[in-house]
Formats: sequence, C-alpha cells, structure tokens
Amino acid sequence: MSTLEENLERFGKYAARFKEHTTGHYIDGEFVPGSDTAVFESTSPVDGSFLGNFYAGTAQDIDVAAESSRKAFEEWRNVPGARRRKILHAIADGIEARADEIALCECMDTGQAYRFMSKAALRGAENFRYYADLAPGAGDGLSLPATEHMNYTLRLPLGPVGVITPWNTPFMLSTWKIAPALAAGCTVVHKPAEWSPMTAMLLAEICHQAGLPAGVLNTVNGFGESAGKALTEHPAIKAVAFVGESYTGSLIQAQSAPTLKRLHFELGGKNPVIVFDDADLDRALDAVVFMIYSLNGERCTSSSRALVQRSIYDEFTRRITARVNRLKVGHPLDPATEVGPLVHPRHLEKVMSYFKFAQEDGATIAAGGKAADVGLPGQFVQPTLFTQADNKMRIAQEEIFGPVLTAIPFEDEADAIAIANDSPYGLTGYIWTNDLGRGIRMARDVEAGMIWVNSENNRHLPAPFGGMKASGIGRDGGDWSFEFYMETKNVCLSYGSHAIPKLGK
Ligand code: NAD
Repeated sequence: MSTLEENLERFGKYAARFKEHTTGHYIDGEFVPGSDTAVFESTSPVDGSFLGNFYAGTAQDIDVAAESSRKAFEEWRNVPGARRRKILHAIADGIEARADEIALCECMDTGQAYRFMSKAALRGAENFRYYADLAPGAGDGLSLPATEHMNYTLRLPLGPVGVITPWNTPFMLSTWKIAPALAAGCTVVHKPAEWSPMTAMLLAEICHQAGLPAGVLNTVNGFGESAGKALTEHPAIKAVAFVGESYTGSLIQAQSAPTLKRLHFELGGKNPVIVFDDADLDRALDAVVFMIYSLNGERCTSSSRALVQRSIYDEFTRRITARVNRLKVGHPLDPATEVGPLVHPRHLEKVMSYFKFAQEDGATIAAGGKAADVGLPGQFVQPTLFTQADNKMRIAQEEIFGPVLTAIPFEDEADAIAIANDSPYGLTGYIWTNDLGRGIRMARDVEAGMIWVNSENNRHLPAPFGGMKASGIGRDGGDWSFEFYMETKNVCLSYGSHAIPKLGK
C-alpha cells in the first residue's frame, strides 16, 4: 500500500480541478454552472483547508434536471435490457479505472480512513455490475393461471426518481441507489450531501463517458433545505430513495405527500451487539471493535451499543478498553490510520457533546472522551468507550454517529431482548452465542431489519437491506430494489368461456 506522502501527492493532482474551478451540476448530459451564483465550500476534515467550491443548486436547477429526467425516461424505459446491461458494465469499468481517484477524494472529503475507502470505489463498481446483469430480467413477471382466466404480471419502470444521499460513505451509497434505478429503466436526479460533494461529480463524469444518454442521470449539488426539498416536491419525480437521518426522513415524508411519492428510507440506527458468555469471545471482541471504530463509527449499521452478559462484563469491557486505547487515530490518507477525523466541525461538536452527557447521566468513560491530539488541527476525536451505562441514558438512546461505544450489562436472554428493543431504532442487530437455539430465537425477537449471528456486518448483494421502526421504510438489495423502482401490473385474460353477469336484460 502506498505511503501517506504518496497518497497526498496523488490526491493533490486529482483534486487540483476542484480548487481551480467551481464545480457545478450535471444536467441533461452537460456539466453546467448553477442558475444562481451562490456557492458552498468543501473543506478538509484534516485541517480545515479549502478543497473546492460547489454551486448551491436552486429549485430552478432541480426543475430543469427533473424535466430532463422526465424527457429522458420516455426513451430510457424502452432501451432493451441487454443495452442497459452493457452501459451499466461500462460504468463499472469506468469506476474501476478511476478507483484510486475516487478513494482519495472520498477520504479527504469525508475524513474516512484510506484502509476502508480504498475498497469503497470497487464496491461501487460491484453494485453496478450486479444490477447490470439483472437489467435484462427486471421486467419479468409471473404467470398466475385461474380456472377461467390467465393472469400474468409485468414490471414497468416507475419513472424519474430522486436519490438523496448522506456524507458518510457517499460514493458507495449513491451507487447502491442509482445502479438498480437505472437497471430498472428509471431515470434519476441525484442530490448528494453538501458536506462531501466531490465523488458524486466523478460518478456523473464516469456515467457520461460510459455513454449513458443525456438526462438519464442528473446530479444537482446543493443544500437539503433548498435543492433537496425541491426535489422531493417536484411533480415529475415519482419516488424518492433517501439515505440519511430519521428526522430528515420525516421532513421528506411531509414534503412529498402532496405529490404522493413512493418513498424508500434508510435512516439512523442505535444497533445492539449482544455478547453471551458462551460465545467465542475472541471473535466477538474483534467484531465489536470493528463494527464501531471502523469508518469513524459514521456508519448506519455500526453496533454502537454493546450488550454484554454480566458474568463476563468486567473482563470483556477491559479487553475492549485495551483495544480502543491502541487504535491508531490519524491522517485519513495514512495507510496505518484506523480512525480518521470526523467530517465537519458541527459533527465533532455533536459527538463530543455525548462525553458530557455520559458523565451527567452517571456512566464511566473507560477510554477516550476527549479530542485527539495527532498534531493536526482537524476534527480528530479519541475513540471512546462508555461503561457502567444503562439503556435509559442518552448515550444509549441517541445515534452519536462517531467512534463511540456504550457498553451495557444484561442478565439473561429475556433481559438482552428487552434492552435491545428498548430503542426508537431497528436497523441491525449482532448476536454472539454458541447456543444455536438461542441464536435463532434472538434473531427472531430482536427488532431489526438485519441480524448477523456470530458475524460482523457482512453484505451479500442479493440479500435485503433496510430497517424497522425509525431506521427506515422498505428494503433494497436483490429484487427488492426493483420492487421499489418498478410498478407491477397484472393482466387478466379470459379463456372466453366464463359466464359474464347479464344486467338489464
Ligand atoms: P441528513 O439527513 O442530514 O442528510 C442526508 C441528505 O439529505 C443530504 O443530502 C441532505 O442535504 C439532505 N436533506 C437534508 N434536509 C433535507 C430536506 N428537508 N429535504 C430533502 N433533503 C434533505 O443525514 P447525514 O447527516 O448526511 O447522514 C448521516 C445519517 O445518515 C445518519 O443518521 C445515518 O445513520 C444515516 N445513514 C443511514 C444509512 C442506512 O442505510 N440506514 C446509511 C448511511 C447513513
């Protein structure tokens, strides 16, 4: 793996264009400035230095983009699946060819460490390849014969859709939404997060070069309350796939109600990892540490509550503490870095406010609990562990979205389930036990859309992804994505032999 200096040098070359020219939008197959001269700045989480200016999209920009995607839909919906497949594979090729550029820009825009982001671009390419191969069959339906009639179903693309993404792993998440939409035959208007706008424009360029027709993907930069809101309200947009905070999801639900949009939400989490005393504790320890301190803990599926059986609580949390104290915090482009700087000063402030809440509520700060001094002025925070916590505390109820773990003791299976489910969220749950029956019971009873037993988060693209409760609405992955981006139509044909009721005879 290349060194920090080498990574910085390559990043400097890739990013010069962002510094030199204000980045606009990608609308109707062209890279254009905004309709308004207002811009916003992206700054480095490492030291606050300037990364680039971006036009702040307006309702007018969204309107032009939505109209372009409405027009393009009329052709794209009829492009044969085999042709869509080819274009989507060409996009995946383009992502692979620019994976280094995407990875380095993603690290510097978000603060995520290179050791994780070096693979994120490739995962984005995988998303495109997976849905490319499903494109030719996306419209397939069922044959449902009855006595006097034959029913069959068709699936048709829904129309132009809005995709709104967050800042934590922006490139991968946008491909996860955009690839199935395009494979289904929908057109897309994408509004990336204003705290990490760089790689969305790289994706737009790759799609353009891969031969995606004009208007099939439009990318409009800007703020949530203006560009994002306008997208959710636009009458040409038939659905919104949104990834972000639960509160924002509720705003979008209200904003899009007058135009009756279909909604898919991937929202926040406060996910439990439940460790029983009969588990393989070495593997459980690796997974617990990985699932909260990787990706800076800025990960919707992170296990931010460790529920540990009381009989092993002291010893197990001592072992977590030792690992947390050894985590390497540093520059995101240093290949040795395990935890990078947080994305934005406002987010650092939010994460650090929980150190005070932990003390006020009576928990113990067993590791971390302060800003991290790594010799750089950015948003560095010590990886933190709270012990002696109970589930009523703010550190156990609220999503902190940083490298911060709250460890809570439990007595037995029933107690573990009660604590796990005492949460507004229900995205994921992780269960560590060597009792097979207990693993199966817990997987059924923990309220979450996704459960891993004796594993950290391991993604399989055909499997459904999504949350319960305040963590989301709907699923994607595999065919679930097509269920969202497509309409199912039933066609009923008579064999010509059934009796039709005769009125007015
Ligand atoms: P956010 O909700 O603040 O912003 C997400 C996006 O929504 C941004 O592009 C923003 O500009 C836009 N937005 C904001 N207000 C809007 C409005 N009124 N109308 C339309 N768009 C609006 O979220 P964030 O802080 O960027 O991301 C972190 C959150 O995302 C965390 O809660 C995290 O759990 C969640 N997340 C969830 C998943 C998942 O799969 N469940 C994955 C990643 C992140």
